[in-house]
Amino acid sequence: MTNSEVVSLAKKNYMNNYAQAPVAIKSGRGMILTDEDGKEYLDFVSGIAVNALGYADEDIRKALLEVLDEGVLHTSNLYYNRRAAEAAAKLNELAGSRQVFFCNSGAEANEAALKMARKRGSAKGKSRIISFRDSFHGRTYGAVTLTGQDKYHKGFAPMLPDVQYAVYNDLDSVRALMDETVAAVFAEPVQGEGGIIPADKSFLKGLRELCSQYDALLIFDEVQCGIGRTGRPFCFQHYGIAPDILTAAKALGGGLPMGAVLAFDRAADIFSPGDHAATFGGNVAAAALALVVLSKLDSLCPHVETEGAFLHERLEALVLRHPDRAAGARGLGFMQGLVLKVSVPAVVAACREKGLLVCSAGHDVLRLVPPLIASRSDIDKAVSIIDEVLSEFKD
Ligand SMILES: *Cc1c(COP(=O)(O)O)cnc(C)c1O
Repeated sequence: MTNSEVVSLAKKNYMNNYAQAPVAIKSGRGMILTDEDGKEYLDFVSGIAVNALGYADEDIRKALLEVLDEGVLHTSNLYYNRRAAEAAAKLNELAGSRQVFFCNSGAEANEAALKMARKRGSAKGKSRIISFRDSFHGRTYGAVTLTGQDKYHKGFAPMLPDVQYAVYNDLDSVRALMDETVAAVFAEPVQGEGGIIPADKSFLKGLRELCSQYDALLIFDEVQCGIGRTGRPFCFQHYGIAPDILTAAKALGGGLPMGAVLAFDRAADIFSPGDHAATFGGNVAAAALALVVLSKLDSLCPHVETEGAFLHERLEALVLRHPDRAAGARGLGFMQGLVLKVSVPAVVAACREKGLLVCSAGHDVLRLVPPLIASRSDIDKAVSIIDEVLSEFKD
């Protein structure tokens, strides 16, 4: 098929809920994707921070073949499977958490965390949840309620009750809402969809203190910033504090759908049998790939830390070169944003024409979330394409 054949078939048969680029991805190797017309792209999107190991990773291939040879892709949670058990052990080891629940997506992980907060709170007269403006937690009803952006709520009222929004990186705005009736505070250590906004150290430390003081659960949504993306296995590990619950997904399943909820000491043993479930949770193939991804974090994280700092410097240099078109660079590791003064969709489209995939975040941020294997020369190539696009940009 050609790109345009795929696009017209899809447009005829899909619901109209996405604004998709007219590109149909066919294959990939390393950092490079190829579309149905044979055009190649350097990938700085990773399927939205999912494809941490790039494309055609040999260990992913081996792990999947091993599962296929054994013949069982799915067991249900009526039974155990060794890969899911091993993946849970590895997650607990990497995060310092105690218990794991597996599901299939970020939104689903946040739903489970929300239910844990409400269940624990129900015995103590706590039902209120504090989340943040410009946050993003997913599209199911609970997760979209947590998402502090009006555009995601429009037309879908009423939202879940007892959820309020404080201002990100503004501890006083949290203090103003905080009392004994708060069950949990939900925060992304780096806001992703909201515009690649890292939390200040004092802000996360302050959230930790407030939650401990008022006996509320501190819940970190690391669906985007976790699993090595910022140069540590989990982003909170930059901050010298730990949450009570952490949610992960995106990169976790190595390209297969997988989400996880990690419970730390204060949130252990909230669920009892029957409280919550996911038919596909702990899927054998997804768990096999999670084991591959998690086993590589030790070696990938130092790379992401140094090369992420390099990418950040290069973006700051772009800001200096294009003061009329770029306003700033921010991010951690391989989760970087370039704040633009010109149309982000126009820059995304122009980069794509020149063979670079990037995407947007918020309304004015160009987001760069390459596979964690991106090399210095990949970064040089990507930045020089963005440089070219900004130089040629017609306002
Ligand atoms: C993508 C994302 C989600 C939602 O994940 P889905 O798998 O699309 O449900 C939740 N939280 C954050 C921080 C995300 O970036």
